[in-house]
Amino acid sequence: MIKANENGTNGSVIVVDTLDFSCNVVSKPQWWRRRTPLERFLIIAFCLLIVCVLITILITIILLVNYEKRIGKNICISPGCVTSASNIIQSLDTSVSPCDDFYQYACGNWIKRKYISEDQTGVTEFGILRDNLNKQLRSLIERKPPKDEPSFFRMMRMMYRQCMDLISIEKENVKPLRKYLRQLGGWPLVEKDVWNETDFDWIETLVKMKKLGYSHNILISISVLPDIKDSEKNIIHIDQPSLGTPNRKYLLKGMNDSVLKAYRKVMIESGAFLGVKNRTYLENEVNKIIAFETKLAESIDHSELVIVRVPSYLSQLESLLLEEDKRVIANYMIWRAVFSSLGQLDTKWRHLAESYDRVLSGRSIEKPRHDTCIRKLMNRFGIALSAMYIRDKFDEESREKAYEMVDYIKRKFLNILKSVNWMDEKTRQRAIEKAQSIRTQIGYSKELLNNTKVAEIYQNLTLDAKTYFETVQKIRRFWTEKELSKLREPYLKNDWKRFAKPATINAFYNALENSIKFPAGILQGVFFAKDRPNYLNYGGIGYIIGHEITHGFDDKGRQFDKNGNNENWWETETDKKFKQRVTCIIEQYGNYTVDEINENINGVNTQGENIADNGGLKHAFLAYKDYVKDKGEEPLLPGLSLTQEQLFFVSAANVWCAKIRPQSLKLRVQTGVHSPPRFRVIGPMSNMHEFSEAFNCPPGSRMNPIDKCEVW
Ligand SMILES: [Zn+2]
Repeated sequence: MIKANENGTNGSVIVVDTLDFSCNVVSKPQWWRRRTPLERFLIIAFCLLIVCVLITILITIILLVNYEKRIGKNICISPGCVTSASNIIQSLDTSVSPCDDFYQYACGNWIKRKYISEDQTGVTEFGILRDNLNKQLRSLIERKPPKDEPSFFRMMRMMYRQCMDLISIEKENVKPLRKYLRQLGGWPLVEKDVWNETDFDWIETLVKMKKLGYSHNILISISVLPDIKDSEKNIIHIDQPSLGTPNRKYLLKGMNDSVLKAYRKVMIESGAFLGVKNRTYLENEVNKIIAFETKLAESIDHSELVIVRVPSYLSQLESLLLEEDKRVIANYMIWRAVFSSLGQLDTKWRHLAESYDRVLSGRSIEKPRHDTCIRKLMNRFGIALSAMYIRDKFDEESREKAYEMVDYIKRKFLNILKSVNWMDEKTRQRAIEKAQSIRTQIGYSKELLNNTKVAEIYQNLTLDAKTYFETVQKIRRFWTEKELSKLREPYLKNDWKRFAKPATINAFYNALENSIKFPAGILQGVFFAKDRPNYLNYGGIGYIIGHEITHGFDDKGRQFDKNGNNENWWETETDKKFKQRVTCIIEQYGNYTVDEINENINGVNTQGENIADNGGLKHAFLAYKDYVKDKGEEPLLPGLSLTQEQLFFVSAANVWCAKIRPQSLKLRVQTGVHSPPRFRVIGPMSNMHEFSEAFNCPPGSRMNPIDKCEVW
């Protein structure tokens, strides 16, 4: 109060002074003559300046009034609107016609302004939010802990401290890895003739690896998952294993492929770091390992469409293991243990891992250590870290608004199911029932606020290891055992633990639960803000909500009924028509070329996501129309002469603005199930009449092709 008063007084003094002064100029010419030339000049300049400012203000007012008249609507100038408007203005590239390339129109300047730093594989709006989230988590974890902190928070901080303590990691050097390798019977290529194959049994080795915290999914994958035919029960799943490369394709390309070359180099250097001096011998051993892994890759069934994979792989594996030299099998298995240890070791090992990552993703330097450690913490202590995050800050009002949006979008989707003309009545009825039973979770499970509940999760975990390496192995082992022990438990639908990582920038559909989930982390930034018009929110998080709902009815989701069981509820005729509609999408996307890498999208692998994108955007748009019918038209944004409908589409596109390194883009196109960002904009929008109407796109223009695809 005192401060405000003082300012007020000061202000009025200045005003009075100025007014007096102007009067003096007019009524007392002798006073004017007494002024020096410099004083006269300054006074005239000052008066001119005042006049200029007044004229500018006047012009601005006239322009604003005209602008509002021209648009004929009111303009929102709340902080939320101004911020959003400013972000959009900085993203748009108005030199491109929205009917020609809407992605470039909506994101052109965003892309121009962004810079990919050396430790990044690209810049995306998702990534920006994730970086902010990581910073927030870092400040939480580095805060001075309260005295009576629960043990799960203490263990988490301990892992973080060990991860950050590079001096100790450097000092430990390769010692922890050697200790673990000894317990596995040694890596044959390092042990040379000392290694004895009579002691080797691959199953025993797998069991040992599991006990030491290494992945046991090396030659086959064994996991406990719900029975898809009866999703209340957990059963053992035997599946094809993961490989050392992110995808089998890299192994099948042969030794000239840059990724495989880099992979081989990591293997050779690892052997050298562990003391092998003879290069020819080492390379020879490594070549045999890669040849064996290539045979594994050849046996793996690559069709990703079937849900139940016929384990023809198993019989092939059997003969492969019989034919192969035990030494090579052991070399390969232990290699996988070594490979998964690189990140926990000292600098030269981490640099080795980076050299591989560089070829794979284009990233050229290591991420800042705290960033790496937060990510590792998220993997190993995700629930505890999320509990810390959510206690710090979550806006309940956002949750309410998001629930309302889900309601509108779900209702719209139900209307569409009721009106599509290609479904028979029986299938339609089952589809409607399934849509009605979708369960929604937004924000986080309230159990995260309950220390006893969170503590139950980490119940049998004790961390007393001296080194970071051992700590990581211990936690890995803890989680593997926890996963496998689920075999004796039922699969609890909507278990709170499956909605316990709100510090996540993503959203989910779970076919076994028939549920959609939106963690707190995604209810911000480009996706959502409670203080901006809802056309932006429907374009942002609304598109995502629609996307997740549609997943329940994509090529895979539709194979599950309303209770989450793998049951066919489609009549033959309708099933056929669905497949025809999907073929249109597969062909549309399969014809898109990703210019940066000169490769086409895999229309088959990405079909589920593309169906979800197309349904999601359309349902969100139509749901917004319903919202306006109920609540009235919303004001426009300042500085942009765009309608509400146009802004909806701009907002939807802005979610996908991205600048990605070609290597990383290639990796995504070759291994991912999502289309690259650009096509998540132009794909669905060019299929929507509503888009063309909003932007007046002539029929036949690139964004308004005559032939359109529509599944939902
Ligand atoms: Zn999806």
